[in-house]
Amino acid sequence: MGGSVKKRKKAEPPDGRAVRDIMETSSESDESADNSKKYQVFKVPGYSRKYPENSKKTEYIVFLSHQTERQFTDKDRLAISHAIRKYCVTGILHLKSINKYKIGITFDLSNNANVFLQNKKLLDELGLNASIPAVDTEVAGVLTSVPTDLSNKRISALIGSSRNVIQVRRFMRRVQSEGGAIKYDPTQTVAVTFASTELPQYVYLDSWRHKVSCYVPPVKQCLQCMKFGHIAKYCKNEVVCSICTDKHSFKTCKEDPKNAKCINCGGNHVSISNTCPQKKMKIEENKVKSRAAKYSDLFNEHSFPKLTQKNIETQIINLTKSDFFMNTLTNAITKIILNQKDNPINSTSIKEILQQTFCASTSSTNNGS
Ligand SMILES: [Zn+2]
Ligand SMILES: [Zn+2]
Ligand SMILES: [Zn+2]
Repeated sequence: MGGSVKKRKKAEPPDGRAVRDIMETSSESDESADNSKKYQVFKVPGYSRKYPENSKKTEYIVFLSHQTERQFTDKDRLAISHAIRKYCVTGILHLKSINKYKIGITFDLSNNANVFLQNKKLLDELGLNASIPAVDTEVAGVLTSVPTDLSNKRISALIGSSRNVIQVRRFMRRVQSEGGAIKYDPTQTVAVTFASTELPQYVYLDSWRHKVSCYVPPVKQCLQCMKFGHIAKYCKNEVVCSICTDKHSFKTCKEDPKNAKCINCGGNHVSISNTCPQKKMKIEENKVKSRAAKYSDLFNEHSFPKLTQKNIETQIINLTKSDFFMNTLTNAITKIILNQKDNPINSTSIKEILQQTFCASTSSTNNGS
């Protein structure tokens, strides 16, 4: 691989395999040879879900639930309306009950929804949690041929903040040694979650370009009732034998696996088989869903402000870091200065020009130009 080895802090693996020739920096020193930590799912600290600035949706929902997980009463709904007025919350299109435990507030703009999400005072006063759905804010991609020496944390650092990576997870292969001990070996495949609704086509790891493919989530199959769509932990059905479909565990089954019957399609295979046409259909469904996530080459380091904003003050500071915002503001100010020969400068004319400039800029972005 490109690049020379600057430091060799890692001990050689016990089985004598050569350590891959990759660039190591001092920032990796804390990772030593501790595999469990190295391959632990890496989540960017301080990340809180928010709507991307360049999102093209026409409405943005924020869910509210009680911090104590209790149901909403009429009194609660009144209190929410009251607090919205008290805190001058802007951009609300409507409020609606989602279920007994959940209320949805729909906003007109991503920024208004994000400001509300960070309004800790209002939320704490009402004892509420605010959240937004992952599907509107995050997208997962898969990288292949990633050197197994790279820790998840290191991969996140290499891709960098330009891509707004929020999670890195290397796929691990479960292997059983002859002694029966189970261990997990790293594969060269890594799933990366981005804070965006669109996947970048490529990312770079130390100047090496890696294509980003859609992440296809595995088909959930319950190992208790063998049905799709949930896992045994949440199963409310009776146990079903994966070999004969009777109501016992496959471990006590006396049927010859050659005569296996699938509970889902009735075919001559065990119910967990990957050859099951029903299961294949579910896998295809997941692929279609994943491909619906669009790629974007518009995605760049200026697309979003920093992720770790907790309140309105940081939101404002971050706005000033947004090129889009600052350029538009600069354009508006330039217009005001150029206009002053013909028009008097007063608060009304300044406000008008600001509004006009921001309207024009945002509508041209929304048209995809
Ligand atoms: Zn089940
Ligand atoms: Zn059986
Ligand atoms: Zn089947």
